[in-house]
Amino acid sequence: MGGIRFYNTMTRSLESFEPLEEGHVRMYTCGPTVYNYVHIGNLRTFIFEDILRRTLQLFGYRVTQVMNLTDVDDKTIRDAKEAGMPLREFTDRYIAAFFEDIDMLRIQRAEHYPRATEYIPQMVELIKRLEQRGHTYRSEGSIYYRISTFPEYGKLSGVRLDKNLAGARVEADEYEKEDARDFVLWKAPKPGEPSWDTEIGPGRPGWHIECSAMSMSLLGETFDIHTGAVDNIFPHHENEIAQSEGATGKPFVRMWLHAEHLIVEGEKMAKSKGNFFTLRDLVQRGYDPVAIRYLLLSVPYRQKLNFTFDGLHAAEQATQRLANTLRRLNTTPPATGGGDLPLESIETFIHDFRDGLADDLNTARALGALHTLLRRVNTALDGDGLSGDVRRSLSEVLRQADTVLDILPAEDSTVSDDEAARIEALIKQRNAARQNRDFATADAIRDRLASEGIVLEDTPNGTVWKLTRQRVRQ
Ligand code: AMP
Ligand code: ZN
Repeated sequence: MGGIRFYNTMTRSLESFEPLEEGHVRMYTCGPTVYNYVHIGNLRTFIFEDILRRTLQLFGYRVTQVMNLTDVDDKTIRDAKEAGMPLREFTDRYIAAFFEDIDMLRIQRAEHYPRATEYIPQMVELIKRLEQRGHTYRSEGSIYYRISTFPEYGKLSGVRLDKNLAGARVEADEYEKEDARDFVLWKAPKPGEPSWDTEIGPGRPGWHIECSAMSMSLLGETFDIHTGAVDNIFPHHENEIAQSEGATGKPFVRMWLHAEHLIVEGEKMAKSKGNFFTLRDLVQRGYDPVAIRYLLLSVPYRQKLNFTFDGLHAAEQATQRLANTLRRLNTTPPATGGGDLPLESIETFIHDFRDGLADDLNTARALGALHTLLRRVNTALDGDGLSGDVRRSLSEVLRQADTVLDILPAEDSTVSDDEAARIEALIKQRNAARQNRDFATADAIRDRLASEGIVLEDTPNGTVWKLTRQRVRQ
């Protein structure tokens, strides 16, 4: 098995991945603008980044991930004003909501979540360096990046900024620029807007400078991976490169990874279009966050993901099927005469699963391998059953695979072998009591287990047990 390969937007090719520092990956991911709840399009990108970090961990790397929180920009300022709240209080509310959402989707926490408003001195420092190197000019109290001073501009996106584009894109709140292609680094204060008194004058930062300052402060001037969705490539990431490389003269990022969009009826899901669902919307309609996680990770990140409720139902069924097989596996007594699942199936699974992920995070292949394995497990359980050894190997590889996917219920794995044996013995006693029509004893056993957070379910194939949610959290 080779190493990991990723598609690098900069070179437009698959490249094998090696971090700068052996065994340690430093990565930066553009985070949310915290003026509202994130929608499931944003979450699709955050799930891609979660699968990325967990895959790197599966392959033995330590990961330092930084995700910024944009807590000052036109939108946060506008909506805080509308809500009649101080900016900090307003963004605090949506930062808390953001963490609730990512926790619900089992997205692993990054190592750092810097807030833009807490990195103003670093941004000022970076703008000063750019000024010293002749990349900036001032106009009406704002500071702009002069794109003509950075000949490599456009190398990530392939966008050629010739004169035709001049005037094409003037952002609402950018004042007087010499050239429409230039972008703002520092914005002059406006009445009623937050502003910082700094060495480069009063004002507030532009959006792009945030990411350059926070990434380099926390990860160094050159780091391994920078991610986002495809709409970030131009102009945001192009501008980050111009700022960072313009200031340091060093390569900024070694690999750029970008996720395709989640779309609805052919269009990008976006707040501005009003065609969006938040995670809360879907949970309120009764969908399980794990099924939503499954849906969002099931399509490889470089393909568009077309969101439909049919797709969400299918994801729900798939997660239920996986959970049922796992429960059967954990609650069916081991076969004594050696099970008939060849160990080879387990090895094939490990190979296909890892190889799929190593192939630019092909989650569809990884999931395919998982379903194939669990189909075989079901067939074996329908037949002669599985030996204790095979069951233990299966538990171990499923646990490993789930360190990346995180779509299996945690329940049964939290119980020791002794505990499982004790529960099985009580179930036997209960069944015996029921056969003797001693329902009082049978019910007492059931209630005792229930009080411990263990629920019994009588199925045509016998009694199975599972842990309740409260018990799982203990
Ligand atoms: P924002 O809060 O708008 O800055 O977006 C946060 C992240 O979500 C950025 O990386 C965006 O590129 C990404 N994003 C926004 N809309 C979508 C979408 N429909 N599908 C996937 N990612 C998106
Ligand atoms: Zn960014």
